[in-house]
Amino acid sequence: MTALLEARGLSRTYGEGEAAVAALHDVDLTIERGEFVAVMGPSGCGKSTLLNLLAGLDRPSAGEVWLDGARVDRLSETALARLRRRRLGFVFQFFNLLPTMTAAENVELPLLLAGRRRRAARRTARRVLADLGIADKADAAPRELSGGQQQRVALARALANQPDLVLGDEPTGSLDSAAAGEVLGLLRAAHARGQTLLLATHDARVAAAADRVVTMRDGEVTRERTLAPSRPVTLPFDPDPA
Ligand code: ADP
Ligand code: MG
Repeated sequence: MTALLEARGLSRTYGEGEAAVAALHDVDLTIERGEFVAVMGPSGCGKSTLLNLLAGLDRPSAGEVWLDGARVDRLSETALARLRRRRLGFVFQFFNLLPTMTAAENVELPLLLAGRRRRAARRTARRVLADLGIADKADAAPRELSGGQQQRVALARALANQPDLVLGDEPTGSLDSAAAGEVLGLLRAAHARGQTLLLATHDARVAAAADRVVTMRDGEVTRERTLAPSRPVTLPFDPDPA
């Protein structure tokens, strides 16, 4: 079967001449459908650069990105944007919610951009927020929410279109331990439902929950380690309150 995502000889150099920084050098990586892969490594080793290239948010200096058997690094901006909307979800360290919109509106946005009607988008957003245990925050503004709640909303936004692949750049990196544990629980639940996850992280608990840990150093993959198969997933809230 074709891999869901594949990086072949991927490189990215920022800047030119004397100021050039080789952030990523000749990285090969294959993510199978349904896998949960963690990318670890010290700050500056190229994790965000790799994720941005794989998400089509940035273009490689050399190498190729393949999604589900199709080469995507050469697509036009328009085609890439459409692909991102339909097939990828992205979660960031600092949530990146739109501050002037409510939680529900933030989740509706990718649905509307994907062409869903307003009423259907609203219904889906409410359901996904409920799935993540924050139905009661639907009408709150992001600034009224804790970090952990904001990240749940961001996760709801990433999952709303049921993307093939969810990419996360240190999704628990700015949360306290309890909130990080909750967000990790929700990511694991998404994985248990069949979602493919690729998360850059410093968090040992996130790495321990992955199927495979890829270690990077100085822009290269230096180690890949497959972990013992699935441990049970428990949600950080009652999914079916009486
Ligand atoms: P990580 O996410 O692992 O901390 P990054 O991918 O952010 O690493 O960065 C890898 C290297 O590329 C670092 O040396 C960083 O300073 C450099 N870098 C990242 N983004 C840029 C940019 N836009 N311009 C120049 N250098 C960059
Ligand atoms: Mg980073």
